[in-house]
Amino acid sequence: MPSDLHMHTSFSDGTLSPEELVAAAKEVGLSYMAITDHDTIDGVSQLYEDGHYPSRGLRLIPGIEFSAHHPVHDIHILGYNIDIYHRELADKLTEITESRWTRFTAMVAKLQGLGYQLKESEVLAVADTSRAISRSHIARVLVKKNFFPSVREAFAVLLEKGKPAYVPHYRPEAAEIVSLIKKAGGLPVLAHPKLVQNEDLVEYLCRDIGIEGLEVFYPQHDEADVVRYLHLAEKYHLQITGGSDFHGFTSRHPTELGVFTIDDSYAEKLYRPL
Ligand code: AMP
Ligand code: MN
Ligand code: MN
Ligand code: MN
Repeated sequence: MPSDLHMHTSFSDGTLSPEELVAAAKEVGLSYMAITDHDTIDGVSQLYEDGHYPSRGLRLIPGIEFSAHHPVHDIHILGYNIDIYHRELADKLTEITESRWTRFTAMVAKLQGLGYQLKESEVLAVADTSRAISRSHIARVLVKKNFFPSVREAFAVLLEKGKPAYVPHYRPEAAEIVSLIKKAGGLPVLAHPKLVQNEDLVEYLCRDIGIEGLEVFYPQHDEADVVRYLHLAEKYHLQITGGSDFHGFTSRHPTELGVFTIDDSYAEKLYRPL
């Protein structure tokens, strides 16, 4: 049976609500799933509070995805089985999501300055229930308004680091994120190492900051990447994870749920029954 340990809901930059995502995951026959929204656990806690957690026939693993500070590279760190009511974690997430809010208004102003007529309210309409306003919400508005044919192209021209509309938001240091995840009882995992785009940095992150898992299986990893990351996981005694990074709309991630999955044996090791 297949599992997927990396998925987003409408509480960050995904399109499906947590309930819809759970229903879709059941539909395609997943046995384990993890919700890993950017900088928020609200999707996970909503499932808890509505009594949908865990769901029959499908086992849910609580997760989150952090972005770490780095001047050049994109470093994302997943946290599994965090205590969603942990005080220090909650305070940090508030700080980060507030900074995302300020940054989104700055990016809209920059885009207006570049001649792209879009309004804050249009981004907020797309962001809907999101607690973490993202560049991908902005990209979706730019596509909707026909400035770009795809989200990818909006990123490539305007939104990627170093492009004209890019504005950073507050991202803690990688080591601080790892320590916070551990304090909240969770397992810190280096996400999509290929997207870091620097193998020396990946090795450093696996070795020196307390990371305990590596996302070996990921849509952009080819066979050689998987072999290399399996070796790295073995070398540094890291748990092996993987997932689709499903967002529910066409970007650099697969659009369909259940197309990219991993073997249950990896997910099983992370599952903590309530
Ligand atoms: P943010 O966390 O607000 O900086 O936005 C980053 C999000 O945008 C990621 O989580 C991805 O979902 C998406 N993203 C980042 N880079 C790209 C890209 N080159 N093409 C499409 N989507 C991207
Ligand atoms: Mn995203
Ligand atoms: Mn990521
Ligand atoms: Mn992700």
